[in-house]
Amino acid sequence: STPVATFCALLTAARMGVLIKGGDVLESLGEITAVAFDKTGTITRGEFSIAAFHVVADKVQITHLLYWVSSIESKSSHPMAAALVEYARSKSIQPKPENVAEFRVIPGEGVYGEIHGRHIYIGNKRAALARGSCHTVPEKKDGDLKGVSVGYVICDGDLVGAFSLSDDCRTGAAEAIQELTAMGIKSVMLTGDSAEAAAHAQEQLGGALEELHWDLFPEDKVRLVAALKARAGPTMMVGDGMNDAPALAMADVGVSMGVSGSAAAMETSHATLMSSDVLRVPEAVRLGRRARRTIA
Ligand code: ADP
Ligand code: MG
Repeated sequence: STPVATFCALLTAARMGVLIKGGDVLESLGEITAVAFDKTGTITRGEFSIAAFHVVADKVQITHLLYWVSSIESKSSHPMAAALVEYARSKSIQPKPENVAEFRVIPGEGVYGEIHGRHIYIGNKRAALARGSCHTVPEKKDGDLKGVSVGYVICDGDLVGAFSLSDDCRTGAAEAIQELTAMGIKSVMLTGDSAEAAAHAQEQLGGALEELHWDLFPEDKVRLVAALKARAGPTMMVGDGMNDAPALAMADVGVSMGVSGSAAAMETSHATLMSSDVLRVPEAVRLGRRARRTIA
């Protein structure tokens, strides 16, 4: 493509809110035959609300539990963290991140923090089973909303809390995936969240996705993107999280979410959706296809 034509196409993309890092990326966009979407924060809004929060150990008080959890989660940028902090505040608990002695993100599980000498893990079922002495965990309670994600709190090896949270699909997500399908592009979901949360999103999308993959570690996302490239051709990965960065790098075109996404995802990606609007994905592919036709 001529430098001028490429420049114009990149400008058009930027006007519609897609920042593309160069003409070669634009051409790769036009070749895409498969798209792997992250769920949380990409297909869904990444704005969780807490449906329920329960203490599951006699010796622990809810106020203490919420104080530990919100103080530790104040240090996390995961979408679930903001919901937990907000929930504690709504119960008049002031998080004190300055009292958290140590903080770590555990990919595929959740977070770890030490507060007032207590060693606390907050995360999914895998975290509860790996970090707690429990062999089973309480699943959803009756009356919980359908499709919620369930999280657990482990304190010094004991399961002390359980909570459920929910998140909705972004406006336009179903339409974007339907458009991709109409363009002959296969769409799949890759998530670190549970089977139930994945199925709930798929239901909200009217079954638009061809495949769902859940309970994934960041390295599983990389492996699945590589596998998709091998069996379905040039592949785009769309994701927002720090945990998506390696998979974004593995994809032929990695696309990050601008407003809500992590810095790591933006750095490794080849393009960024400034408005976090997934409808821009099929539009960007169309622009890439047109740019390729101009060359030929
Ligand atoms: P994803 O965001 O794609 O679901 P992650 O690897 O970031 O993948 O997280 C995997 C799972 O670990 C999440 O679905 C969630 O259940 C749990 N998790 C991650 N971060 C946190 C956190 N800060 N607080 C509680 N749970 C978390
Ligand atoms: Mg995500």
